[in-house]
Amino acid sequence: MTFVMNELAGLSQVSRLPGFEDATPDTVAAILEEASKFATDVLDPLNQSGDREGAVRLPDGSVRTPAGFKDAYLQFTANGWNGLTKNPQYGGQGLPQLVSTPVEEMWHSSNMAFDLCPLLTQGAIEAIELAGSDVLKKTFLPKMVSGEWTGTMNLTEPQAGSDLAAVRTRAVPQPDGTYRLHGQKIFITYGEHDYTDNIVHLVLARLPDAPPGVKGISLFVVPKFVVRDDGSLGDRNDVKCVSIEHKLGIHASPTAVLAYGDHGGAIGYVVGEINHGLEYMFVMMNLARFSVGMEGVGISERAYQRAVAFARERVQGVPVGRAPTDGTTAIIEHPDVRRMLMTMRSLTEAMRAVAYVTAAALDNAKHQPEAEARAQHQSFAEFMVPIVKGWCTETAQRVANLGVQVHGGMGFIEETGAAQHVRDARIITIYEGTTAIQANDLIGRKTARDGGAVAKQLIAAIEATADDVSATTDADLIAIGSALRTGAASLTKSLHWLLESYSASAREAFAGSVPYLQMWGTVCGGWQMGRAALFASRKLAANEGDANFLRAKLVTARYYTDALLPEAQALAAKVTGAGRSVLALSAAQF
Ligand SMILES: Cc1cc2nc3c(=O)[nH]c(=O)nc-3n(C[C@H](O)[C@H](O)[C@H](O)COP(=O)(O)OP(=O)(O)OC[C@H]3O[C@@H](n4cnc5c(N)ncnc54)[C@H](O)[C@@H]3O)c2cc1C
Repeated sequence: MTFVMNELAGLSQVSRLPGFEDATPDTVAAILEEASKFATDVLDPLNQSGDREGAVRLPDGSVRTPAGFKDAYLQFTANGWNGLTKNPQYGGQGLPQLVSTPVEEMWHSSNMAFDLCPLLTQGAIEAIELAGSDVLKKTFLPKMVSGEWTGTMNLTEPQAGSDLAAVRTRAVPQPDGTYRLHGQKIFITYGEHDYTDNIVHLVLARLPDAPPGVKGISLFVVPKFVVRDDGSLGDRNDVKCVSIEHKLGIHASPTAVLAYGDHGGAIGYVVGEINHGLEYMFVMMNLARFSVGMEGVGISERAYQRAVAFARERVQGVPVGRAPTDGTTAIIEHPDVRRMLMTMRSLTEAMRAVAYVTAAALDNAKHQPEAEARAQHQSFAEFMVPIVKGWCTETAQRVANLGVQVHGGMGFIEETGAAQHVRDARIITIYEGTTAIQANDLIGRKTARDGGAVAKQLIAAIEATADDVSATTDADLIAIGSALRTGAASLTKSLHWLLESYSASAREAFAGSVPYLQMWGTVCGGWQMGRAALFASRKLAANEGDANFLRAKLVTARYYTDALLPEAQALAAKVTGAGRSVLALSAAQF
């Protein structure tokens, strides 16, 4: 984590940005150390018990979280973890995203179901801070930043999932300037729980005379308990948890069906301007999508650590190339087990590097003094967010599945914990927009809209890294540079095809959107592994740092470029050549 933060994402540059003066190396090291202790001592021991016990809805509509979770939440907020990046004006610590990202990774690794509550609260805080009135900010933000109250995001309805234009929840204006909300929201993460006295729901709804589609959606704050002028809790609002879902994974995280307005209407306060709700939601979703990508990194790291520990312990067979008289050894000696572990490890390292570099861009996009520099970082971050979300979550499926395979039959048995990672990871390619929705965003708003301008800049940066890495006599670095150049060529070929096809044969372009996203993730992973190899070799040459760690970094970078980066060529073939057959059958022929 510290290697990626310091060498690849540029922590020292980020901490020189105005507002981030407190992010000194000592402070950051202390934060990571404390986070590691909290994850190890408090969150991780609850992960499997929480999965087994699950959240339970009681007959009165309240929800009981698994044993230990409420106490862990109270410790979490008491230690100030909730407001790490939040505005100091509301009690936050104002630290860079780059610092909170490894911390978040630890929460996801140790207990993803737990961290979903703070994750959603962050999103709700962002929305209110972005567009809420001063009164809303004063009433809700300090308590949400401290974690005394939690937040939720209420977008989904039975007929409105990926397509939010179909939202039907009604918001009826009242003479006092408030609104009364009626409708049903489904799949609401931590929509009801026992951690806190109040829950602040951020709800998408329509005014009775709103235009149809996305231009008629507004955003509302609907607290579970109405807040009096003095800040104390007043009446119970007309929103209740009707049920919670039985799910494949993240059992400790309650996923609620919420009914609004069965008794006259839930009192809501509009956030920003009416009919602009979806715009605000999208700004805030950028960060939420990034965080879900980090769930992929966190789960992958944990699955890898578990698999390595098992592979060292489990004794089975005589590895090929060893004499039978050597006797049986741990499975980590089998070449194929090595292949699986190397794949898990190098994919996780590549994902982490891509994500942390994006985190640094998010910080620069907000804190650079010059507008032009801010805009440049913003466009890079916006290009990368669907990749971090889509690629890291899809890759986490692969890594978590390999984790089960390393365990053999025991991987299929719940007590090892490997299976839980597969089950927990399965949701992350779905919520906060499915992989297809990320890919649609990447080919449309992020690639075609600017004629591929940002994409071309990024390809140029990847090619420059390939040149830097190759400018040596070291055979490993030369091989890495060459593979990276081939990866960049796959991007260029696909980009040209896409720019031509996006309007001319849109359905074919969209048939290749997910492979296009996967290809970008794969090559950006190679880009960052190439940079990592370069830094590692320079440090080794200068006799700096931990030689064992740096040599291993060179090996994982070489493995990534030998074995994983070439997948970009196959993905390019899918982007440019498979669309017609994807679409050739009629719906009835399936
Ligand atoms: C555990 C859990 C927690 C959740 N938490 C929340 C929450 O806190 N708040 C909230 O509001 N929602 C939440 N959701 C809802 C989640 O965001 C949606 O399930 C998700 O956006 C997908 O919508 P859907 O389920 O209706 O699937 P659909 O939209 O019906 O999609 C079904 C399939 O069709 C594909 N598809 C749909 N449209 C397109 C398109 N335009 N192009 C290409 N493919 C398309 C999808 O990719 C998918 O493969 C949660 C869901 C779950 C399961």
